[in-house]
Amino acid sequence: MSESFGFQAEISQLLDLIINTFYSNKEIFLRELISNSSDALDKIRYASLTDPSVLDSEKELYIQIVPDKENKLLCIRDTGVGMTKADLVNNLGTIAKSGTKVFMEAMAAGADVAMIGQFGVGFYSAYLVAERVQVITKHNDDEQYIWESAAGGTFTVTPDTVNPPLNRGTEIRLYLKEDQLEYLEEKRIKDIVKKHSEFISYPIQLAVTKEVEKDVEDEEVEEKDAGETKIEEVEDDEDKPKDKKTTKIKEKKVENEELNKTKPLWTRNPSDITPEEYASFYKSLTNDWEDHLAVKHFSVEGQLEFKAILFIPKRAPFDLFETKKKRNNIKLYVRRVFIMDDCEDLIPEYLNFVKGIVDSEDLPLNISRETLQQNKILKVIRKNLVKKSMELFSEIAEDRENFNKFYEAFSKNIKLGIHEDAQNRSKLAEFLRYYSTKSADEMTSFDDYITRMPEVQKSIYYITGESMGSVKESPFLEVLKKKNFEVLFLVDPIDEYAVTQLKEFKGKKLVCITKEGLELEETEEEKKTREEQVKQYEDLCKVVKDTLGDKVEKVVVSNRITDSPCVLVTGQFGWSANMERIMKAQALRDSSMSSYMASKKTLELNHANPIIKELNRKVAADKADKSVRDLTYLLFETALLTSGFVLDEPMHFAKRIHRMITLGLDVEEEETTEAAPTVEVPPSEGAATSAMEEID
Ligand code: ADP
Ligand code: MG
Repeated sequence: MSESFGFQAEISQLLDLIINTFYSNKEIFLRELISNSSDALDKIRYASLTDPSVLDSEKELYIQIVPDKENKLLCIRDTGVGMTKADLVNNLGTIAKSGTKVFMEAMAAGADVAMIGQFGVGFYSAYLVAERVQVITKHNDDEQYIWESAAGGTFTVTPDTVNPPLNRGTEIRLYLKEDQLEYLEEKRIKDIVKKHSEFISYPIQLAVTKEVEKDVEDEEVEEKDAGETKIEEVEDDEDKPKDKKTTKIKEKKVENEELNKTKPLWTRNPSDITPEEYASFYKSLTNDWEDHLAVKHFSVEGQLEFKAILFIPKRAPFDLFETKKKRNNIKLYVRRVFIMDDCEDLIPEYLNFVKGIVDSEDLPLNISRETLQQNKILKVIRKNLVKKSMELFSEIAEDRENFNKFYEAFSKNIKLGIHEDAQNRSKLAEFLRYYSTKSADEMTSFDDYITRMPEVQKSIYYITGESMGSVKESPFLEVLKKKNFEVLFLVDPIDEYAVTQLKEFKGKKLVCITKEGLELEETEEEKKTREEQVKQYEDLCKVVKDTLGDKVEKVVVSNRITDSPCVLVTGQFGWSANMERIMKAQALRDSSMSSYMASKKTLELNHANPIIKELNRKVAADKADKSVRDLTYLLFETALLTSGFVLDEPMHFAKRIHRMITLGLDVEEEETTEAAPTVEVPPSEGAATSAMEEID
């Protein structure tokens, strides 16, 4: 009694794509199916560690490939965990993974079909070579079922009453397309397994047909069908009785040949392992289609013993920061037995892109997930893996081009690490790279920055912002440029988090140039003139502060701008303008935090700027000058924009600007009165007009 199901729409599309697009590299289907078998074997082995009876149904753990030329059929069988009926329906057709769509998009953008495994849809690669696929499977908790589909939008699931029982596990039957019969050839299969699946840790058996010689007595030979066997006369053998003549015949016999007899790679001596072997091991471990970027193979001996290989991929996976996804990055083995591939405690979250294996001599075999968390041995292993990862990054950093690749893919992880891992913070900071006022098109490290610091400069200066465009021309850079102090551009949202944790690098303070308390190293002379200016502008500062009220915390004379009239700086320990923008964008943030952290703004005036000079003159002449108010608001709002804040009331700002345009164009006043702003405008239009004109 078979049940019919429709493939989920995206899976159906994927199948169409696989069947109808021309690819030459079809052989990867075998790697995908073997990798699934290996996963299924891992699952049952893991279950058996806590409950050995799960293996009662079938003790041997292996993968077997059986080519059947007569029926144009290729079978891949495993004694893994198998699938229940529900598994079959869910995993092979009705529930699409996030990777389904992403893979199709990648294909449309020219990606190679070989990437399929990374997107979690490797099974469907069977349709590269097969016109029809059957999956016969037996799980300990269910009966044996047959899943079957020739694509075309539907599949069936039927209780299996026809095939021999599997005991436990899965057999994939591929009814090959007429033009894909090469995959029935022994040599071809052996080559593919060697190329893609050599390091699978279960035996991969190939059912090979061999001609074996057999001694038979002459009378028997006569009775046999001479058409099937070759008969050769054999010379007399000394050991045999002379009176009985024997003949050797050749018989066809099916035997299992193990294709992956190599020792686990990590147990071998690193100096005997070729780069190609590492690459091949890496690919079979990760489903990646490209070689790794860097590798570290090491062992730890002494009180505690383990061997490990760590790899850094060339690219980030498509779902690197998809938080719910289970990560299988580091495979944990205990004395060559696979334990699990999603042990969260083996490596910190921010290193979730490091792939590899660890084989411990000390952990108990029947360790459970729960006890692992508390395990001291595991903690030591983890510490070592982190340390070795840092060494690996340092090695990559020796080659600029490789490091650029690495940084492009994983800089977010490094920054996350700086935020989270206090112990390795300063080490990780060495890997940070930023564009700067002096860097041109190459990013610079903190170390390189330090070598360029003028002698008087004591701190490392940086500015944060939304994009390079928003920071490159920032008024905050003015004085620093003039003093020849380099400023780093931090334009990744995560930079804000990282840098607040980092605080310093090799004894040099990290200073945000948009925040209060920027103590620029200044000469005695500079200091003296500034102090004089402070006195001169005391009244103006007070008037501006009174006008803006709560909008600003303070109004002071600036030491950081040389051209712009004014800037807004934020409190040293509060959010920067950029952080305020980031936090506003996070809809679900705790709003009580924002009133406490939100930037307390200080308006800094540039005494050297003609606008400010003129304002100062006005205030000195008449403290109650009405035009000062409107101009103050315009200056404040433009400062919000140039300092990286978001305008809370853009309409008011626009109206003020429109009024200026009106004045510039000399439009009749009556026409404009309607457009006059409703709040925060001077009581008399006339006064404002005259003010604008005076400034012009
Ligand atoms: P992935 O292996 O990345 O999960 P696949 O498309 O290769 O994606 O396989 C889909 C799912 O089908 C697997 O996650 C597994 O649940 C199931 N599956 C496939 N092959 C087997 C097998 N040989 N034994 C048991 N389950 C399997
Ligand atoms: Mg798979």
